[in-house]
Amino acid sequence: MPEAELRVCALYPDLMNIYADRGNLLLLERRCAWRGIGFSVTAAGLGEAIDPGAHDLFYLGGGQDRDQLLCAQDLVETKREALHAAAADGKLVLGVCGGYQLLGHGYGEMPGVGLVDVRTVREDGPRLIGNVAIEVELEDGSTRVLAGFENHGGRTSLGPGERPLGRVLAGHGNDGRSGFEGVWRDGVIGTYLHGPLLPKNAWFADWLIGKATGMTTLPPLDDTLEDAAHRSARRAAGVD
Ligand code: GLN
Repeated sequence: MPEAELRVCALYPDLMNIYADRGNLLLLERRCAWRGIGFSVTAAGLGEAIDPGAHDLFYLGGGQDRDQLLCAQDLVETKREALHAAAADGKLVLGVCGGYQLLGHGYGEMPGVGLVDVRTVREDGPRLIGNVAIEVELEDGSTRVLAGFENHGGRTSLGPGERPLGRVLAGHGNDGRSGFEGVWRDGVIGTYLHGPLLPKNAWFADWLIGKATGMTTLPPLDDTLEDAAHRSARRAAGVD
């Protein structure tokens, strides 16, 4: 048995998997396996309860409005308390796009679980679509770039006590005007970036693995392909 292990709970992997967001889990699995870190993923679908103590990272991807509505209702009815317990215990919760919207108070009429003080509305106006890059300031004050693709009708605003995940370098971000993208409070992270997010930003996958396993340094990997994907995503967004 490896000493370190990353236990992921994938919420609604079939319904909330727009833009192949499941690729995020695949990348986590590979990067753990290549380093001899244990990895397991448990799917939790509609009607299924989740155990807040049994996982290190809870993952919720993006979805079409119709699928997202089904998940929103179920999330609030069967999983909200466990997610709050997990977040209070320092577990990681990562939401991408539709998943991000549901971590807050909801999206339009759809309820959210209220893990963060974030609200999403559907305004008149075009969907916010395109390549996007943001600058994230990490705990030690260093900054890194996340690059990806966004496609959302919702406009998200943060409550006064919340901090965004990053500052928009290119693209729309939360609402197309605030200059902010995503939310980050302790272990709870929401972002609009698809790509999928982690294959284009392997550094962020490692940051999550480090946080979830408590490993302060991770053995380096040959990231030639990952670095190329990251550069290409940055170039597509126009930041290089
Ligand atoms: N349905 C949501 C919206 O349009 C989320 C879309 C997504 O996950 N890409 O805002």
